[in-house]
Amino acid sequence: MRLPKFDYRQPESIQEACAILLDQPDAKVLAGGTDLLVNMKHRVETPSMIVSLKGLRDLDYVRKANGMVRIGALTRLKKVYNDPFVAKKLPALAAAASSVGSYHHQTMGTLGGNLCQQTRCKYFNQSKWWRSARPLCFKAGGDPCHVAKKDQVCYSTYCGDVAPALLVLNAEVVLSGREGSKQVPLESIFSGVGKTPLNLEPGQILTEIVIPEQSADGFSTYKKIANRGSIDFPIVGAAVWTSASTGESRIALTAVDRKPVRTRQLEDFLKGLELNEETIQGVDGLVAKETQLMMSSIDSISYKRKLMGQLVKSALSEAMGGR
Ligand SMILES: Cc1cc2nc3c(=O)[nH]c(=O)nc-3n(C[C@H](O)[C@H](O)[C@H](O)COP(=O)(O)OP(=O)(O)OC[C@H]3O[C@@H](n4cnc5c(N)ncnc54)[C@H](O)[C@@H]3O)c2cc1C
Ligand code: SF4
Repeated sequence: MRLPKFDYRQPESIQEACAILLDQPDAKVLAGGTDLLVNMKHRVETPSMIVSLKGLRDLDYVRKANGMVRIGALTRLKKVYNDPFVAKKLPALAAAASSVGSYHHQTMGTLGGNLCQQTRCKYFNQSKWWRSARPLCFKAGGDPCHVAKKDQVCYSTYCGDVAPALLVLNAEVVLSGREGSKQVPLESIFSGVGKTPLNLEPGQILTEIVIPEQSADGFSTYKKIANRGSIDFPIVGAAVWTSASTGESRIALTAVDRKPVRTRQLEDFLKGLELNEETIQGVDGLVAKETQLMMSSIDSISYKRKLMGQLVKSALSEAMGGR
C-alpha cells in the first residue's frame, strides 16, 4: 500500500514546529510513524502536510529531578522500559510500554505518539477498498456511524497501552504551543470524543511526560489481553497501583471506551479496605460500570466485560502479595 501525497517539514525547534502546525491546520505531527503512517496508507487520515518531530532531539530522555521522573515525548518505548528506574520502580509503565505491538513498534514508536494515537474501530482501521462497501462513516468524513447506527457520532475506542499505566502513576504532561508550555494532568488531554480524541489546541504538541517519584512507593502493574499476544492492540488492558501505607488504590482501563478510563467509583469502594480474596471478588460487578462499551471492535461487549473483571482481579491479587 502506498502513502498518499503530502508536503514534508522537519522543524529544528518546538516553536518552529508549533508555528507550522498553526499555519497549516490540517498538518499532522509525525513521531515514530507506526500509527499515523498506517492510517495514511488506509486513507483514513490524509493530511496535506507532515511535520516530523525528528529534528527535536532534545525530546529524547528519561531523567529524574526534584522528585519527578521526566520523559521526553520522543523517547522510544524500548528506551522507556529499559530505563533502570522505570524497570525497577515503575513496573506498570515498563509492562505497558513493553506490551505495545511488536518489538519493531517498541523500537520505532515513541511515548508521546503512543499517548496521542488515534482511536480505533473495526469500520475505520481498514483499507479504502474494504471500506468502499459502505458509505464513509462519520470519522472518515461521511455522516453515519456504522456502530451506533446514528449520524454524526463516533464511538471509536482508545486502545493505547501506556495511558492507563501513566494514569495510575498520576502522570502529568507538558503541552507546548507557540505561546509557551503548560503542565496538565494526563487525563485532561483525552476528550472522550471519538472523532477528535485529543484536547490539544491548534499548534500544540505534547513535549514531556512527568511522573511523581512518590508513585514508585506503591505496587503497580499493567495487564493486557490481546488476540495475537506478540503484536496486537489490547482487547482490554488494566493498570493498577496500590499503596499499603495509605490504603489507596488507583485503577485505569484501556480499549473499553473513547478514552482511557480511571475507575474512580471502584477506587472509592476499595479505599481503606484490606485487600483479601473477599474484597477482590467484590470488585467484579463494579469494574465495567464506569465504561461505555460499544461494538467498535471484533470482540463482543460481554467478552470485554468479562476480561475487564478478570484483569483487575488478577492485578489486585498480585498487589495483595506485593504491596
Ligand atoms: C500492527 C500494529 C500493532 C500495534 N499494537 C499496538 C499496541 O499493542 N498498543 C498500542 O498502544 N499501540 C499499538 N500500535 C500503535 C503504535 O504502534 C503505537 O501506539 C506507537 O507507540 C505510536 O507511537 P509513534 O511514535 O509511532 O506515533 P506516530 O504514529 O508518529 O503518531 C501517532 C499519533 O500521535 C500524534 N503525535 C505523535 N507524537 C505527538 C506529539 N508529541 N504531540 C502531539 N501529537 C503527537 C500523531 O500526529 C499521530 O496522530 C500498533 C500499531 C500497529 C501498526
Ligand atoms: S464508531 Fe462509527 S463513526 Fe466512529 S470510526 Fe467507527 S463507524 Fe466510524
